[in-house]
Amino acid sequence: MQFDIITLFPEMFSALNYGIVGRAKKQDLLSLRFWNPRDFVQDKQQGRVDDRPYGGGPGMVMQVQPLRDAINKAKQADDTAAKIIYLSPQGRLIKQADIQRFAEQPKIILIAGRYEGIDERVISNDIDEEWSIGDYILSGGELAAMVMIDAIVRLLPGALGDPTSAINESFSDSLDGLLDYPHYTRPVIDSNGQAVPEVLINGDHEAIRRWRLMQSLGRTYLKRPDLLTNRSLNPEEAVLLQKFLECSKEK
Ligand code: SAM
Repeated sequence: MQFDIITLFPEMFSALNYGIVGRAKKQDLLSLRFWNPRDFVQDKQQGRVDDRPYGGGPGMVMQVQPLRDAINKAKQADDTAAKIIYLSPQGRLIKQADIQRFAEQPKIILIAGRYEGIDERVISNDIDEEWSIGDYILSGGELAAMVMIDAIVRLLPGALGDPTSAINESFSDSLDGLLDYPHYTRPVIDSNGQAVPEVLINGDHEAIRRWRLMQSLGRTYLKRPDLLTNRSLNPEEAVLLQKFLECSKEK
């Protein structure tokens, strides 16, 4: 998958040289190309990519021309059709289902804003979609772009050592929008004397499946009830959630 990133700070993306994304890069599952608006400034003497906002007010705004030229270069760098995305706190909140759709794209151009943001005419004329990573303000779009790339790359075939890892994660289709169930590893009893739930070590796969579903339902109910509001429970799920709630009352 091809990512073209429009950024004033390409060096920041060295954070993607680690872990799963770093390994995927080495396997050529993705390629990153950077386009710095500074390299497209026409008035080399002034050398500015930003200017004061019309109408007054604090801060600076990224100018149209260097950004537009950088986007066009990124588009023309190969023959692949690209989706052009501006990372912005005003965009739609990215969910796992969106990440799944992005992972099917052959090429994405990501625009990382800085300062007060980018000139509105770039947003209305040059980008396809505006996406946010959360209701808070970052100093720039680079971290948001990296968050997006990381989440997308996990879904590329071959990126994860065990491809089933991505299948059972929170928000995934196989968990049907629920949170992941709790995980345990050795030792069976930890230094506080707390034991791994018995059901996980007795080898009864059906009992494990039901316990995990019950935990997923229960923790979604407790931690993210909003995820359950548009989701009906089938009869098995309704019974398991009831059981989970009764057990938690007893504790
Ligand atoms: N003035 C803008 C506003 O209030 O909507 C915020 C500009 S912010 C300081 C600078 C840049 O950071 C933005 O252009 C955008 O690219 C990026 N950014 C900030 N918060 C973000 C978020 N929650 N999601 C994605 N990008 C974000």
